[in-house]
Amino acid sequence: MPILTAETKSLFENANKIHEKNFGKEIAFERAIFFSWGCSIGDCTFCYMSTQPYGKNPQETKRTTESILAEFILAKNLGWDIGFFTGGIGAFTPEEIESLLKAAYEITQEKLWLSVGPLAKPFLKRYSPYIKGVVGSTETINPELHKIVCPSKPLAPYEKMFLEAKELELDCAMTFIVGMGEKREDIELVKDFIKKYQITKIHVYGLIPQKGTMFEHAAIPSAEEQAWWIAQLRIAFPKLDIQCGIWENRADRVALLLSVGANSISKFQATKLFGKKQAQDIEAQVKTARRTMRGSLTKLPSIDWNKEVEKLSLDEDLKNKIKDKLNNEYLKRIKQNIQKISLIQIQ
Ligand code: SF4
Repeated sequence: MPILTAETKSLFENANKIHEKNFGKEIAFERAIFFSWGCSIGDCTFCYMSTQPYGKNPQETKRTTESILAEFILAKNLGWDIGFFTGGIGAFTPEEIESLLKAAYEITQEKLWLSVGPLAKPFLKRYSPYIKGVVGSTETINPELHKIVCPSKPLAPYEKMFLEAKELELDCAMTFIVGMGEKREDIELVKDFIKKYQITKIHVYGLIPQKGTMFEHAAIPSAEEQAWWIAQLRIAFPKLDIQCGIWENRADRVALLLSVGANSISKFQATKLFGKKQAQDIEAQVKTARRTMRGSLTKLPSIDWNKEVEKLSLDEDLKNKIKDKLNNEYLKRIKQNIQKISLIQIQ
């Protein structure tokens, strides 16, 4: 990391003090769970989806119910928080979303954050027994930049959703991607937006330059730049829940992002990389930041996974499919990762 200026150093130290005063040392790992990979908007200029053939039926991109619920079971038992439940508009019917939310709620015993585009009030009401709030994928607040990066995803419908969510006593969260061309002075726009819509949680990601998009050759935002946004928000909003998004090659910035005010880490491909070096690096970074993380990215708890499935009130056929997915896919891969890394460490 480059040497920080005295001003930046002081900003970061101040943010750390405010964070520790309000949240102590404990942080979380968050897993966003996707129910499909398709998107009916599909043209946000930073997004992988914009490189996909136009007109793909979102229904063809949905995951199986057993795969989704197996991931919830895994996340819960590894001590991960659920960042949000998300997926493409049109992939599932409202009945199917409601039924998935109900099952996920039974697994996690906690209401979820839901991110499925701007929802109309009747749907907010319908899902409200199972959700604590809604996430608006706002991405950036600068109006000019927003038009460029999200040409078909205006902010207004999200703003309407936030107001209606409040009427139903649901919380509101937003996303912000550092590195797409925002200016530091845009922080004031973000602060005003947070105040106006009573945002209680923000996901601060760093741009991931996707092949085939206008950002393909863009530089990734530095750790210091991502930290600057988090620190500013921590100081302005001492109680705001701030999540920092990383990537498999950005473990080395975790300590900094946590020490300037992030409450949780996300966007790490945790089921694929569980137990691997990148996961170990993240846990080491958490220690460097003098934080303790709920849950684990490297240690599998010794529990009866089938029993976790058995206790759910789902039909037997679905339970058998979940067990199969859990044991023969997720846990199998995780155990292989752990075995490989211990062999490397012995050598
Ligand atoms: S950012 Fe979201 S809405 Fe935009 S194309 Fe990607 S998945 Fe669709």
